[in-house]
Amino acid sequence: MRIRVISEYVDGEALEEVAEALRDVYGGEVEIQIAENLVDDKFLDYERGQYDAWRIVQHYRGILGEDEYILLVTDKDLYAAGLNFVFGLAWRGVAIISVHRLFPEFYGQPPDRALFKERIIKEAVHEVGHLHGLMHCSDRRCVMAFSNSIADTDYKDSRPCKKCLAKLHVP
Ligand SMILES: [Zn+2]
Ligand SMILES: [Zn+2]
Repeated sequence: MRIRVISEYVDGEALEEVAEALRDVYGGEVEIQIAENLVDDKFLDYERGQYDAWRIVQHYRGILGEDEYILLVTDKDLYAAGLNFVFGLAWRGVAIISVHRLFPEFYGQPPDRALFKERIIKEAVHEVGHLHGLMHCSDRRCVMAFSNSIADTDYKDSRPCKKCLAKLHVP
């Protein structure tokens, strides 16, 4: 299965590392596309100042080709019904992640490029894991563990645990 990464967040180096991690875990081809205005204001909840991840993912199902998964990358802050925010969301072939809350600066900490790249890789590998049918994992070190906060993201590894990997490779 090919993975098409479509990003409005322009950071070639980080996106390249994301692509490499996805190739490494899931195999197959990974292509990166840059698209301006991927998440436009029609998805914005003006009161919350956040964008509706669910509607975005549904919208982009319309461009999903055969034999591919799509991973959208945005710098806008996302929410989903019932949650204050989400780092990402995946549904039927299309996933989205937001880098908005992955910067150490967001938490009042000094910039840390290596930490930021680790976080974006984990979120990407997690959401693409859902696209491949993986569910949340109870092993908190596994990349498929649910992240309620950035501390959860930082605690986990950037790869699926052995159990999740085994599920992945069952046809
Ligand atoms: Zn998840
Ligand atoms: Zn796992």
